[in-house]
Amino acid sequence: GPAVQFRDLAKSYGETRAVEHVSLEIPRGQFVALVGASGSGKSTLLKTVNRLIDPSAGEVLFEGEDVSAQPLPALRRRIGYVFQSIGLFPHMSVAENIAIGPRLAGECLAGLRIEELLRLVELEPDLATRMPDALSGGQRQRVGVARALAADPHLLLMDEPFGALDPVTRDALGERVRALHQELGLTTVMVTHDMAEALLLADRVLVMDAGRIVADETPAALVAGK
Ligand code: ADP
Ligand code: ADP
Repeated sequence: GPAVQFRDLAKSYGETRAVEHVSLEIPRGQFVALVGASGSGKSTLLKTVNRLIDPSAGEVLFEGEDVSAQPLPALRRRIGYVFQSIGLFPHMSVAENIAIGPRLAGECLAGLRIEELLRLVELEPDLATRMPDALSGGQRQRVGVARALAADPHLLLMDEPFGALDPVTRDALGERVRALHQELGLTTVMVTHDMAEALLLADRVLVMDAGRIVADETPAALVAGK
């Protein structure tokens, strides 16, 4: 079955209808970009998958199971999440930041695994002992990706992961994430307001407007303007 299914999903904040009538399936292995103007509901839709946000109506299935019926720690361990910006804890080293998810679950990440995760995001092993404020913005976001991958998730969710980076750094990290998606056999859902980035990285582009999916196309079809 599909990795993720939304069934007539809706979310309102008081009078604001952030997401309305979203039904779709994301097959395993797909790299999906969720694009649209600010306020169109992208982030809300994304966060219903790992239950940072609970929907007002409808349901979300992850690997065939209703996410609302699953214990949160178990669910979040199977779903990597990359924050928009400063997601690192400033008082913890790079290694401690990477290991935080497993540690909260009572597990220890071996030094070798930390090294492997750093290698996956193309960071030198000696960065493990650095504090976040001694890293560049691009390095920090790479640590954020390594942390999201620490528990070996099947699904990677990213909320404007490269938005705060300069264009060169953004392109390099985007390409690395695309390669990791393939190497690790992930299903990836990335929120971005950058259509060029979506067209470059994704297999499928979902366009949101006022809480609804208004286009669902391959990059090739979108470029052809159909
Ligand atoms: P996007 O990610 O596309 O920028 P969001 O999902 O963040 O869109 O927001 C969709 C709509 O919901 C917007 O109108 C936004 O102002 C509103 N919204 C988002 N989060 C909240 C919240 N916690 N409380 C009230 N309104 C919210
Ligand atoms: P934004 O809404 O600006 O994209 P983030 O993506 O950085 O903000 O954070 C989204 C939400 O995730 C925050 O409101 C925060 O409460 C929550 N959060 C913080 N730490 C964790 C964590 N370790 N795991 C899951 N959710 C978290």
